[in-house]
Amino acid sequence: MSSVSPIQIPSRLPLLLTHEGVLLPGSTMRTSVDSARNLQLVRSRLLQGTSLQSTILGVIPNTPDPASDAQDLPPLHRIGTAALAVQVVGSNWPKPHYTLLITGLCRFQIVQVLKEKPYPVAEVEQLDRLEEFPNTCKTREELGELSEQFYKYAVQLVEMLDMSVPAVAKLRRLLDSLPREALPDILTSIIRTSNKEKLQILDAVSLEERFKMTIPLLVRQIEGLKLLQKTRKHKQDDDKRVIAIRPVRRITHIPGTLEDEDEDEDNDDIVMLEKKIRTSSMPEQAHKVCVKEIKRLKKMPQSMPEYALTRNYLELMVELPWNKSTTDRLDIRAARILLDNDHYAMEKLKKRVLEYLAVRQLKNTLKGPILCFVGPPGVGKTSVGRSVAKTLGREFHRIALGGVCDQSDIRGHRRTYVGSMPGRIINGLKTVGVNNPVFLLDEVDKLGKSLQGDPAAALLEVLDPEQNHNFTDHYLNVAFDLSQVLFIATANTTATIPPALLDRMEIIQVPGYTQEEKIEIAHRHLIPKQLEQHGLTPQQIQIPQLTTLDIITRYTREAGVRSLDRKFGAICRAVAVKVAEGQHKEAKLERSDVTEGEGCKEHILEDVKPGSISDTTDLALPPEMPILIDFHALKDILGPPMYEMEVSERLSQPGVAIGLAWTPLGGEIMFVEASRMDGEGQLTLTGQLGDVMKESAHLAISWLRSNAKKYHLTNASGSFDLLDNTDIHLHFPAGAVTKDGPSAGVTIVTCLASLFSGRLVRSDVAMTGEITLRGLVLPVGGIKDKVLAAHRAGLKRVILPQRNEKDLEEIPGNVRQDLSFVTASCLDEVLNAAFDGGFTVKARPGLLNSKLLHLPKVSG
Ligand code: ADP
Repeated sequence: MSSVSPIQIPSRLPLLLTHEGVLLPGSTMRTSVDSARNLQLVRSRLLQGTSLQSTILGVIPNTPDPASDAQDLPPLHRIGTAALAVQVVGSNWPKPHYTLLITGLCRFQIVQVLKEKPYPVAEVEQLDRLEEFPNTCKTREELGELSEQFYKYAVQLVEMLDMSVPAVAKLRRLLDSLPREALPDILTSIIRTSNKEKLQILDAVSLEERFKMTIPLLVRQIEGLKLLQKTRKHKQDDDKRVIAIRPVRRITHIPGTLEDEDEDEDNDDIVMLEKKIRTSSMPEQAHKVCVKEIKRLKKMPQSMPEYALTRNYLELMVELPWNKSTTDRLDIRAARILLDNDHYAMEKLKKRVLEYLAVRQLKNTLKGPILCFVGPPGVGKTSVGRSVAKTLGREFHRIALGGVCDQSDIRGHRRTYVGSMPGRIINGLKTVGVNNPVFLLDEVDKLGKSLQGDPAAALLEVLDPEQNHNFTDHYLNVAFDLSQVLFIATANTTATIPPALLDRMEIIQVPGYTQEEKIEIAHRHLIPKQLEQHGLTPQQIQIPQLTTLDIITRYTREAGVRSLDRKFGAICRAVAVKVAEGQHKEAKLERSDVTEGEGCKEHILEDVKPGSISDTTDLALPPEMPILIDFHALKDILGPPMYEMEVSERLSQPGVAIGLAWTPLGGEIMFVEASRMDGEGQLTLTGQLGDVMKESAHLAISWLRSNAKKYHLTNASGSFDLLDNTDIHLHFPAGAVTKDGPSAGVTIVTCLASLFSGRLVRSDVAMTGEITLRGLVLPVGGIKDKVLAAHRAGLKRVILPQRNEKDLEEIPGNVRQDLSFVTASCLDEVLNAAFDGGFTVKARPGLLNSKLLHLPKVSG
């Protein structure tokens, strides 16, 4: 048995204050450094020093370092361990910190603290591993007996471990080769001991005392191991390996086996996590799961992939707002003002939203319907949702559902999967940090479906007020109460929303805007917003209403105001360049004209004449002159107009009619073209049609064939059998767009009637309506959007089903004035209104122009 080789430590040591573990001489540990003083010590001593001596520190255990270095040094533990810093690892995440790997050399005692800042330095007295072992003066026999006893227990303990593990075998060899004096410290740091016990061993300066104190600890560990082995003897399961592995992992903390040292328990974080779980207000069931998981986590080696998984899970659990909510502000008057201030027009939507809020004010526990705003893009659906959150004083979170085709997106993945995570609902709750936010489920009509399950089905549970108080995310695997969350959905069309989901929601249609509404929205909301975003003021740019109208009619064709908003953005950018250039030039006191060929021409008027066009481009004019955006400026900035009204030109031959279609993007006018040729009675349809549309075409032909005599319709050879030796081709231009729906029925009939009679359909008339085989006209949807589209396209007369007459009330007065409406209950009336002078043989009384009157019924 050799004796410990003496070492000599410097008489002054920088002190590292730790509170996590206790470093004993001869053992190694990792410690994390994140307090101000310790960080300073690492930076200026370890990272900058070059000598071996600068890597020696005095580690003072059980001393929490104060958070800021302005605070006084806490009372220090008297005895510490001189240590060698073997490795420094730095990281900036989640906050700057270092992890030190330190090996204990010997005990020391603080004689005097020499300085406290930036890190403490003390004069120290070395207590062991000196040249002359002060303790060796003990009678050799007494100590020999004690150390012999200790050695036996140590051997017994090590032999109970799995000797096939290389580290255990190594430890066994070390027991023989290491000096006996070093064993108590090393074994204490290997076996399971509390920090308090380790501290006692550290404080036991005399060797005899140390042997006496460690023997009971060894015995306890041996007993523990025996017990474990007995209970698990017959089970060849993983647990056994854990028992074997655990001590092995600790055994690696032996000097000389540093390379084996790979990980250490992140005790501190786990303790914090445990504390958070204890203090969190989660429901009992969730709490139980957390307690179970943290127990598992403590037993797991850090290198196991499951470790990180479990830890992430627990961190999410404590972060979730189980009981945290905001208090609702329910003041209907204030809500009305706020909604009116943020949004122009959309009266129906605002009214319904206010009703909804009013009911909430009266009965807070309302399990209300889920509102679903349906309308074309850019009509302010999302923005109203945001306003609702604002009026209630709730957090707002938008969940985009477009393209989601995996139900795990909603409900999370089970934790057995690698990379599993919670669904969007739980993630959203974590983000907002309260359990009663407003969730905007955007684009519910664009949910996909795939092999990974149907996300719409997963949403059902989320949206059902009867079920969602215990919504179970697969990842969480415990119920979370969603009943306080206010869900609002948006969609472009109800057609693609799965029926079961549709059933859970109250649909509120948000139709497109008229030109006048768009002008108001532009001047009240869009332009001020764009100016602000581009750092411009109304003193620098002036956009007259006429220009806005030009942009609306000639540069955009949409139901909402989104591209209008973008056009204003483009204008603002161009003007911003001018303004910035102007300022620059002004600063240089330069007088120059705008160079030719620039993307944007500037119009600064000597005296402001709104609406007038001037080519004056003198930048030396007073800077407060606003830049006027007139039509020329518009053309320079946005390019030539994209849309022109050219409807009337298209109806110059028989066999063309204009229909009105509703698309998710708003109303559209749609041409239907027909031609006939010699053939065998075939019907050809082109233009990407859905099944319903094809059926309408067949219906139309059948009806016309059966009524051919009545209307004197003949084929090319004069026969009333329209398909005799004749093929018909029907085409719906804009082939890139898929078209479906029954509302083109009347248009197809009109178009074919024109083809077979050789008469022209009126160029200023558009129509919509479903037909039946008996020639009745049935009501269709989207009337407001369709009428607005007809108005936009400059048409004058709209034919619509009689049962849609009630929908005309929604149409703004000015549009109603510009158009004349003909309501029809049968195809007779449609045809009479579509052709100049009526269509039937007998002349009909004149059409009633406008004011919602409909034609008298034609009999026979
Ligand atoms: P959606 O969700 O219907 O597609 P958004 O809510 O995103 O449309 O609206 C697009 C933009 O148009 C937003 O900047 C919104 O503020 C603005 N907007 C739409 N309608 C109105 C309105 N009636 N009043 C004021 N701004 C509006």
